[in-house]
Amino acid sequence: MSSGTYEYGQLYRSEDKIYPREVKGRFARLRRLAMFVLLGLFYVGPWLTWDGRQAVLFDLPERKFYIFGMTLWPQDFVYLALLLIMLAVSLSFFTALAGRLWCGYACPQTVWTEAFTWIERSVEGDRAKRIKLDNAPWTWNKIWRKSLKQFLWILLAAYTGFTFVGYFVDVRTLAVQLATFSAHPWSAFWVLFYGFATYGNAGYMREQVCKYMCPYARFQGAMFDKDTLIITYDEERGEPRGPRRRGSDPKEKGLGDCIDCTICVQVCPTGIDIRKGLQYECIACAACIDACDSVMDKMNYPRGLIRYTTEHAIQHKRYHLLRPRTIVYSLILVTLATAMVSAIVLRPPVIADVIRDRNALYRDAGSAGIENSYTLRIVNKQNIERHYRLSVRGLEGITLATADRFTVEPESVFTVPVAVTVPHEFAAGGNIIEFVVEDVDDPDVRVVEESRFRGPVAY
Ligand code: SF4
Ligand code: SF4
Repeated sequence: MSSGTYEYGQLYRSEDKIYPREVKGRFARLRRLAMFVLLGLFYVGPWLTWDGRQAVLFDLPERKFYIFGMTLWPQDFVYLALLLIMLAVSLSFFTALAGRLWCGYACPQTVWTEAFTWIERSVEGDRAKRIKLDNAPWTWNKIWRKSLKQFLWILLAAYTGFTFVGYFVDVRTLAVQLATFSAHPWSAFWVLFYGFATYGNAGYMREQVCKYMCPYARFQGAMFDKDTLIITYDEERGEPRGPRRRGSDPKEKGLGDCIDCTICVQVCPTGIDIRKGLQYECIACAACIDACDSVMDKMNYPRGLIRYTTEHAIQHKRYHLLRPRTIVYSLILVTLATAMVSAIVLRPPVIADVIRDRNALYRDAGSAGIENSYTLRIVNKQNIERHYRLSVRGLEGITLATADRFTVEPESVFTVPVAVTVPHEFAAGGNIIEFVVEDVDDPDVRVVEESRFRGPVAY
């Protein structure tokens, strides 16, 4: 860390810049793999096509979400709500089980920071070189390295903003529009906005987002218990810490296994010392495990002075995988997943809405009887044209006074006025009636909508 810029009497102290040291090891490889897979999915996602259309497209103006073969309409947003609830419960479940795995490997802040740090390290060098470069005067070496880093950061940030907007606007059209400066002002604004957010968060804010902005960091501690997997320094084994020669016997010197090299602190992206115990700033990235393992290897000590473990295990107590909170979370998750899958599978391919004409209670249609008017709206969710038959029931002698066959274009909404008549002798007082919309070619597909039929008041 560089020295802070605080002077006695000042009310504000700026954050020290953190220069995380590069670390190699199994968890670093895992983190890099997660970065490639997640960023790969994100950047490739909008370019995939399905049935001749962008595979994943959240078309907000059209109010339709295309997710591979599935089209979600505003009426289907209950699935989205279910999905969000499931994600929230999964986060609680995995946090109770395995601590901050999400933060360490999958959180966008971690993933993009990893990518930005990788660019920084490739251009400016490792920790010592970066510190030296920052403190050096503006020579040509510093100018070209800093400029190249900024150029690559801006490029990646801009492409990230473009990709993000590409999930909401057809990505190929957006690419052409941006290249020809003809994009809609809102599209251009969101590309710049998300690009700027990526640049700021992953380039500069980094650990400060985790420490001061992320709400999850604040409440995740409440989801922990003594059987939650955490990254811990084994104090019993490591203390008393102290330097020693390689090959010397620590017991002779009355020392533990920690050689106090502080490499675990130097690799930490949030700049904390894990040897001080579990801290909310720890994002569980496991960099300190890799770092300490490499030190232990060099000293010929067993690995795992810093390791994934649980509070109970450290205290030599029994570990419980099944405990009330993990059981409750998993039951909720299974129930929600079952509800969601069955709701999606059983989702009707057509929706019908009937709205009663509010301008007139009823109309006397002479010998035809009493007439009520409605507006019928049919939503064909399928990607092929469908033919529907409309019928009505619920009162003696009830008939449709308007057309009863409709053709609806694929994935579109069809609106038509309909009128219903009931003979005078059965219309008095009115009643609840049912409109039945049936797919002509597939009678299993039918929806029934209720509405009220109004007639003259019966005496
Ligand atoms: S890396 Fe390991 S040995 Fe070195 S200071 Fe940290 S805990 Fe101690
Ligand atoms: S203490 Fe270790 S696991 Fe926690 S953030 Fe620092 S390096 Fe990562």
